[in-house]
Amino acid sequence: MFRFSSIKDYHNALLNGQTTCVETVHYYVSQIKTAAHLNAYIEVFEQDAIARATELDNARKQNGMQGKLHGVVVGLKDVICYKGKTLTASSKILAGFTSLFNATVVDKLLAEGAIIIGRQNCDEFAMGSSNENSAYGPVLNHADNTRVPGGSSGGSAVAVQADLCMISLGSDTGGSVRQPADFCGIVGLKPTYGRISRYGLIAYASSFDQIGIFATNTEDVAIALEVISGADEFDSTVSNQPAPVCDFTEETGKKYKLAYFKEALEHPGLDPEIKAATEAFIKTLTAAGHDVQAVDFELLDYIIPTYYILTTAEASSNLSRYDGVKYGHRSSKPYEDLADFYKNNRSEGFGDEVKRRIMLGTFVLSAGYYDAYYTKAQRVRNMLRRKTQVVFNQFDAIISPTVPSPAFKISEKSNDPIEMYLADIYTVFANLVGIPGISLPLFKHSTGMPFGMQVMTSEMNEVPLLRLSKRLMQMAGLE
Ligand code: GLN
Repeated sequence: MFRFSSIKDYHNALLNGQTTCVETVHYYVSQIKTAAHLNAYIEVFEQDAIARATELDNARKQNGMQGKLHGVVVGLKDVICYKGKTLTASSKILAGFTSLFNATVVDKLLAEGAIIIGRQNCDEFAMGSSNENSAYGPVLNHADNTRVPGGSSGGSAVAVQADLCMISLGSDTGGSVRQPADFCGIVGLKPTYGRISRYGLIAYASSFDQIGIFATNTEDVAIALEVISGADEFDSTVSNQPAPVCDFTEETGKKYKLAYFKEALEHPGLDPEIKAATEAFIKTLTAAGHDVQAVDFELLDYIIPTYYILTTAEASSNLSRYDGVKYGHRSSKPYEDLADFYKNNRSEGFGDEVKRRIMLGTFVLSAGYYDAYYTKAQRVRNMLRRKTQVVFNQFDAIISPTVPSPAFKISEKSNDPIEMYLADIYTVFANLVGIPGISLPLFKHSTGMPFGMQVMTSEMNEVPLLRLSKRLMQMAGLE
């Protein structure tokens, strides 16, 4: 029986008759049912997926492969519109809402022959680091069911980790692809801001949000990235540059100049084993002839506050549309006036974390505090951008741990939002400055959990990022 390891192998297996798309879909549907306790999927599109697989098998027999993702089984985080399907951002406030159109990424996936298998659980409105903020309940880490999978794209990460699909699409505003990839031992890429259209992605913080990719290996990430990137008339923030095509053949012997932030490795919140593993890997890189240098990054302590001021500000504005008038949850409580009516709908529809962020965001945007918080945070963001530019003038990439701790226990941090926010310390940087970042599952912790290393390159440099990533995966014996 065929077992998935990469898109390339799968395509060979389809071409030599070892498997079919229909057989593959049946396999994943049964896998998802067996792993129902993980709670990775909110909904499985079983009939649609089988029908599409049948069409693809027939088309292949007559006309050959139907695209770069022919028969590839893909899961979608519950924040990406798929026409005719329910879409809720794992929130009660959107219960029963149906997508009226496809997100651009969905059109692009389908145009290259992908099969969309289902809708994946996540933190409500993509706010969280543990997938405990979902109206559908938590997702469990497949490597240890007492631990969280990370968030907010926890369901999408676990689906790839537990072989419940081949690749998943999530969204990453401050780490929601890289952090769960780290906790689940898989590869997770957040592309450059503006690389992929956000049309049809439910907005959390629009100047940070980017759709990202989960896969088991770097080549599959590269194929998916090529398919879903590129200009879109529905999203003016998308770059006009052509989609990145990564063939992995060039620069195989290249020696890299790599930076790491000194303060990142000296941070008191960093788990000692993660620190040791990262330092040991730096030594291995140096021994292999790469030039790895420590760079000062005195702004580290400011990045979490800056991120949470700016993203909550944007969220408070983005989420104001959920008022229960045109769609979404409407309270049955009696009301006195319009404000009362909105209050009832929103109080019942949103979960605690979302409410906390709407209030924080409203506060930092309020007339009396705007300059003290929002304007100041924008300044820090600009400083970070300038500082980053200087680093990339000298280095090919920046490396760091992805997360300061391995996957923690369910409910361990759920009562302490500040502690939870610290889980994002290494990932929010890439979103603040708009650069691509990837988490590679290079390490294993004594708790038995996997953990990763993050690699970042300058804007629009996903191809060099993926080439370097493959080298690092090879050094760790993983590809
Ligand atoms: N954990 C971060 C947050 O809660 C990141 C979320 C995300 O990237 N969507 O905001």
